[in-house]
Amino acid sequence: MFDPQTKYDIHFDSILIKDFHDYKEEYVVRPPYQRKSVWNKKKKQDLLDSMFRRFYIPRIVIRLVRVGNEKTLKEVIDGQQRINTAQEFFANELKLPKSLKNLHEELPGKTYSELSVEHRKFVDRNIKYNADIVKGIDNPRHPEHQRVASEIFWRLQQGESLNYMEKAHARLSSLSRNFIVKYADDITFDYEEYKPIDENPYKHRFFSIINRKNDRMQHLALMTRFLILEENGGVADLKDSNVMEYIDKYLDEKGIGNDSFENNTYAKSVISTISTLAEIFKNDPMLDDEEENENGEIRELNREYFIISVYLLLRHLKKYYVLSDKEKVFFREFVLDFHMRWREKHEDDRDIIVFQASRQQSINEIETRHRIIRQVFFEYAKENDIEILTKDDRRSFNESERILIYRRDNGLCQECLKEEKPEKECRVPWSDYDADHVVPHSKGGVTNVDNAQLLCRCHNQKKSNKV
Ligand SMILES: [Zn+2]
Repeated sequence: MFDPQTKYDIHFDSILIKDFHDYKEEYVVRPPYQRKSVWNKKKKQDLLDSMFRRFYIPRIVIRLVRVGNEKTLKEVIDGQQRINTAQEFFANELKLPKSLKNLHEELPGKTYSELSVEHRKFVDRNIKYNADIVKGIDNPRHPEHQRVASEIFWRLQQGESLNYMEKAHARLSSLSRNFIVKYADDITFDYEEYKPIDENPYKHRFFSIINRKNDRMQHLALMTRFLILEENGGVADLKDSNVMEYIDKYLDEKGIGNDSFENNTYAKSVISTISTLAEIFKNDPMLDDEEENENGEIRELNREYFIISVYLLLRHLKKYYVLSDKEKVFFREFVLDFHMRWREKHEDDRDIIVFQASRQQSINEIETRHRIIRQVFFEYAKENDIEILTKDDRRSFNESERILIYRRDNGLCQECLKEEKPEKECRVPWSDYDADHVVPHSKGGVTNVDNAQLLCRCHNQKKSNKV
């Protein structure tokens, strides 16, 4: 007999809609693999209309999730909005629609507590949702159980197709996914309590300066693309399929609820670059102009391909050039000026025409844009008499330089000398000695004997804390 093995069992049940309100704590209305969706008032009232008329309402799907030896929760795989509507109705946050007038004239405009005794009895004791209860995939830390649950969810969402990022977002056991969700999503999920949280204190402030919506997870997709760029040392293919592959590459058996990816070098580089971007734009007057844009974002940072090129330019500058406050102010001016040229697109502005034409996410077009924006940046710096200094790549002094510096400074800490300590106390043994950059390396100070001095451990530490 042909009889493929099932991955889970299904039991039929019907649940009084009042239970969703009375035992609210038992229901996990938004599982971690789902995005938050909100019905408008009309849709909610249409559902209340159907309930009172006892029309057919599609079955909801609930998965039992075991959170302890004697406790399970009811995770709503399908039916988030139907349950929210019931909960809001019993909490007196929703009024019955006018359309119910021909069923009973006292119904329209009433909240639950304003209903007559008969009507309340009817709602309390008769209105139910039919439910399919899924059993046998109840371990919330088990990647396969979570994968099957999200698979059931997708198959029920066929009408409303999910995009690549929404699918990648459901890969709960991917370490890169967890990092991206932590810093780029608006909501979060508490695995200890196994409950959804409708805010995210970790969301990076960079996302509040860009002029991009996140309703279809655009912020998460952008964050993933930054990671791919870092991991490829700069330019890379950033197509939708590359984003999916990047999430799948970090699937891990112990991945669910695991935050360890933020220790990854590339993850740290992304955070560092977007933090600098946020800092560069933080005083932009555009951010306060609430009349023009209610969320207060930088209007220029609206296209993903433009943001990616700005990211790559800043990443490049951070790596090879000195970036102090002066250069940061200049960077901001450059981005605004470049954006204006890009918007105006004069037909004889060849660089901009090519930049504009290369807006796809393939490595070749990203490389072309990166080359153009870099070139235009340095031309703009020259026109404005701004000298962008290269960092000396070499950060530490070599052995012979260390010896020269030690001899030249007579083995004495130059700061201790300035403090006029007796020579005995200024003496630094060879084993305790650090050669110090007079002009710090991070500010463009070169690594040579002329820019070096002998410091004791104590003074070296004090200085690096200041920088
Ligand atoms: Zn000293």
